[in-house]
Amino acid sequence: MAHRFHINMPLGLGRFDLDGEEARHLVVSRIRLGEKVVLFNGDGFNYPAVLVQLGRRDAVLEIEARIPNLCERKTSTIIAAPLPKGDREQILIEKLVELGVSRFFPLATERSVIHPEPKRLERLTRHVIEASKQCGRSQLMSIEPVSTWEHYLALRPLGEVGCVAHGPAFAAKNLPVLTESPSSIWGAVGPEGGLTEAEAGLAVEQGWTLVDLGPRILRMETAAIILSWELGQISDRAQR
Ligand code: SAM
Repeated sequence: MAHRFHINMPLGLGRFDLDGEEARHLVVSRIRLGEKVVLFNGDGFNYPAVLVQLGRRDAVLEIEARIPNLCERKTSTIIAAPLPKGDREQILIEKLVELGVSRFFPLATERSVIHPEPKRLERLTRHVIEASKQCGRSQLMSIEPVSTWEHYLALRPLGEVGCVAHGPAFAAKNLPVLTESPSSIWGAVGPEGGLTEAEAGLAVEQGWTLVDLGPRILRMETAAIILSWELGQISDRAQR
């Protein structure tokens, strides 16, 4: 696969001057003159380009085409979870991007340990970009502002599927099966200390389904990854 570079601005055909962090990345990637790369800016398209000039800190590329990237689902998957500590945060974000999640909400729940600062949220965006380069997505998973449990539950439009991973001991139902493809599908995972009964109860009251992800207690990032995979499968099956 060609090297991919994220450009934070509108792109079009023709000459493009690359500088800053992505130019340094291009230099250290040892890309040669005449070699093809792919630029993307999050608009859902790939911009194949040829390297035509290379400096020590900048480069000139010729963008040759604008091609829709077809790896996105029609149904948006939206996931919320409290951020885990340390490196596990990067793993969580990377895997959600790879699994095609469209939006991620860091959650503040009663038992969440981490309440992210704006700087930390910026770092998450960096992880989104790196993971998108690696897995070939051209739409960036958005990192939404920190949301309270109540606020997140209320965001789901009426009629759209919402699943809260809650288990194993209290988990109630299996994942839903859909016949028609929804426009969005919503998931939530609790913190290391678990959701409180009041939080789980509020979700049920608001029409969310509590789902069991198996008999073992998963770390929250594992639960978020599995839930994202399962919700993706539900919407893929409905689209067939
Ligand atoms: N002691 C906590 C409890 O009993 O709730 C464990 C919390 S677990 C480490 C963190 C989160 O991952 C949970 O709030 C839940 O959302 C999710 N989770 C972990 N294992 C799960 C399972 N087997 N089924 C469903 N959700 C699970």
